[in-house]
Amino acid sequence: MFELTREQKMLQKMAHDFAVNELEPIADEVDKTGEIPLSTIEKIAKTGMLTLIAPKEYGGGGWGDVEKVLTVKEIAKACGSTGEMYAVHLLVVHIINKFGTEEQKKKYFAMSNEGKIGAFALTEPEAGSDAGGLRTTATEDGDYYVLNGSKTFISNMGPKEGDFVIVFALTDKEKKTHGGITAFIVDRGTPGFVLGKLEDKMGIRGAAVSELIFEDCRVPKSNIIGEVGKGCNVAMGGLDSGRVGISAQSCGIAEAAFEEALEYAKTRKQFGKPIAANQGLSWYLAEMGTKLEAANLLSLRAADAAAKGEDATKLGAMAKFFASETANEIAAKALQIHGGYGFMKDYKVERLYRDARILTIYEGSSEIQKLVIARNLIGR
Ligand SMILES: Cc1cc2nc3c(=O)[nH]c(=O)nc-3n(C[C@H](O)[C@H](O)[C@H](O)COP(=O)(O)OP(=O)(O)OC[C@H]3O[C@@H](n4cnc5c(N)ncnc54)[C@H](O)[C@@H]3O)c2cc1C
Repeated sequence: MFELTREQKMLQKMAHDFAVNELEPIADEVDKTGEIPLSTIEKIAKTGMLTLIAPKEYGGGGWGDVEKVLTVKEIAKACGSTGEMYAVHLLVVHIINKFGTEEQKKKYFAMSNEGKIGAFALTEPEAGSDAGGLRTTATEDGDYYVLNGSKTFISNMGPKEGDFVIVFALTDKEKKTHGGITAFIVDRGTPGFVLGKLEDKMGIRGAAVSELIFEDCRVPKSNIIGEVGKGCNVAMGGLDSGRVGISAQSCGIAEAAFEEALEYAKTRKQFGKPIAANQGLSWYLAEMGTKLEAANLLSLRAADAAAKGEDATKLGAMAKFFASETANEIAAKALQIHGGYGFMKDYKVERLYRDARILTIYEGSSEIQKLVIARNLIGR
């Protein structure tokens, strides 16, 4: 069912070679310094991957969700932090492509091709899983809207990186999720848009995540994404695609951890034989390999459905839920297989274990994915 075309295989190989040559060698440094070098982001831009899913007429690759999954997985496998940066940026590209105006597409896809990255700002201190509880306001004033409020945990926004951000704000406090939320695209440097705290994280440490503050930030009406009051559609339409991206990120990190575990189990000897010769450990590996295969297939199945224009909400939630839980299980087992060495920073599996941990939380936790899946199954 998922036989890749020749072109897809070539794209996958390009992403693989790039990730192995440019990202894997610096993944430890990225983790230690908490920074993805801007030169690395520029290199990714030069491959065309930052506009992979933008239409060709705007300088994009013209590819779709399946190809997104293929490339996100390769990048996340080499470097979890860069995988996160890339997946979030493609979520932003997807939203601009689906809901943006001609001018917005021209401007932001050209910026992406120069290595400028975008962010998605929905979460607030009081609005996490219940994103509809947001409090940031946007008040109409002539040709502008004036934004006030704050956003928390926003990926791709750091001291150096993050050039534009899609912000969700209340344009009608009474209507809230029923037509009261609007999406705006805000450029870095707009007066009244300030970067707050840079988060100090457990994993994906190189991926910048910050607080954003809006104080009388004037945004032209031409920066509205979609229509006034239709911000919920923009957010949900974006997250449907974003979840497939996180499933691919999960598969990449899971595959890296699985390969580390397999190699270690075959070479580490105790009691005069490789530890893989113990049935208990070999069964761990059998379970890990099987679940990885299933996660990869589900991720591609959701991407394929989205690419064909089918309703991918349920499949996207299933792929995100299953792949992210699987990545955590595989990373934890991989660390266990490494024994005490897995607990040490000298071993890659220590970083993979930390990088996997966020996957079941952001872009909707596993609990929220199960709500979405159940709602779609039961039909409520
Ligand atoms: C590293 C990182 C990067 C992020 N990047 C972004 C970003 O770029 N843009 C953005 O907008 N946000 C981002 N987020 C925010 C992220 O999406 C939220 O953290 C997530 O949605 C959960 O919200 P919360 O942290 O407020 O937890 P809460 O909503 O407070 O949830 C706490 C716990 O309660 C559970 N829970 C809540 N409601 C229910 C329910 N109805 N039923 C069952 N269980 C429930 C949750 O599953 C969770 O286990 C990021 C977060 C992190 C940590």
